[in-house]
Amino acid sequence: MNNNNKIPILGLLPHELKTMLSPLPSFRVDQIYHWIRRGISSFNAMNNLPENLRDDLEKRFTLRSSEITRCFESKDASLKLQIKLSDGLFIESLVLQDQFERKTACLSTQLGCPMACVFCKTGSMGFFRNLSAAEIVEQFFHLKENRAEISNIVFMGMGEPLLNLGELRQAIAVLTADDGKESFSKRRITISTCGIIKGIYDLAENGPAVRLAISITTADEALRQKLMPAAAENPLAELKKALHYYQGKQGKRITLEAVLLGGLNTRPEDIRSLIDFSKGLDVLINLIPWNAVEGLQFQGHTLYEPKSLEIRDFAAGLENAGLKTVRRSSRGRAVGGACGQLGGESSLP
Ligand code: SAH
Repeated sequence: MNNNNKIPILGLLPHELKTMLSPLPSFRVDQIYHWIRRGISSFNAMNNLPENLRDDLEKRFTLRSSEITRCFESKDASLKLQIKLSDGLFIESLVLQDQFERKTACLSTQLGCPMACVFCKTGSMGFFRNLSAAEIVEQFFHLKENRAEISNIVFMGMGEPLLNLGELRQAIAVLTADDGKESFSKRRITISTCGIIKGIYDLAENGPAVRLAISITTADEALRQKLMPAAAENPLAELKKALHYYQGKQGKRITLEAVLLGGLNTRPEDIRSLIDFSKGLDVLINLIPWNAVEGLQFQGHTLYEPKSLEIRDFAAGLENAGLKTVRRSSRGRAVGGACGQLGGESSLP
């Protein structure tokens, strides 16, 4: 049997595996999950399992339906992996390390992206397909194999997470399955969305209770719809209502991500509209100076990075109105893995 016919085990929750292996006792399933969480990549190495069980697992399941094909490392300790999926297509995932040596895995949820944001490389690729839960979870283990302990996970890689919420939900359930000390806390997971209203209500009602970040970009509706064409279906007034509802249900602070595009969305009206949008919500505004992506244009003009003064004035405008801001570092740039830079030519089929 070749690997393509095997079931990717990382897409399964412990109770699902238990059902598939019935009448296997629970302690055996726990042992298997213990190994899986340690990042083991071969069933044969699960040395506390009887040999016939290891053989059975090997025949029916695969621990990795995807494989690392390229690895890019930079001096700032960022690591970007190119991962080949079982159908021969490629995605990218990365780990960014901050000054406290905390490692954040940035995972992809789709191959390409249908949202077509004009400033984002993935958006310029178009959309190919959703990733399966196993393909999402495997990214984490590929990164872990290369970078040991990962303290945070952000779904800010390729794709729009809330357009693949079913598989994403399963992936988060697997990553956080409670089997003792090695499970991953939901509080250290963030989903970033360009503001899919239906998905936000779904998260509010059904969880998972992870952190939520909204790529607001600008709260000037007309400009936002031009910069994020697909977001036009999710108007700001409705988005704000959804965030209110979400906050009422989940009670957590929401991050608003504002990618700053030189000379475009750093105008006084962008500051004013963002202040207005934030009223009544508990938000932290994350300012992300645009990371250059060659060839991206808006209305015939090449996009450019904002000047330091432009960023400072923008932040000051928000802070003077009592809003909290943080500036995202550009870590990952050296490997083409900073925000919005994922989707190298090699990702194309
Ligand atoms: N589709 C999701 C997650 C992926 S994008 C979303 O829209 O939230 C993750 C973040 O990177 C978003 O806030 C997006 O606005 C930002 N981004 C996209 N392209 C960028 C670029 N070239 N430079 C900096 N940030 C970018």
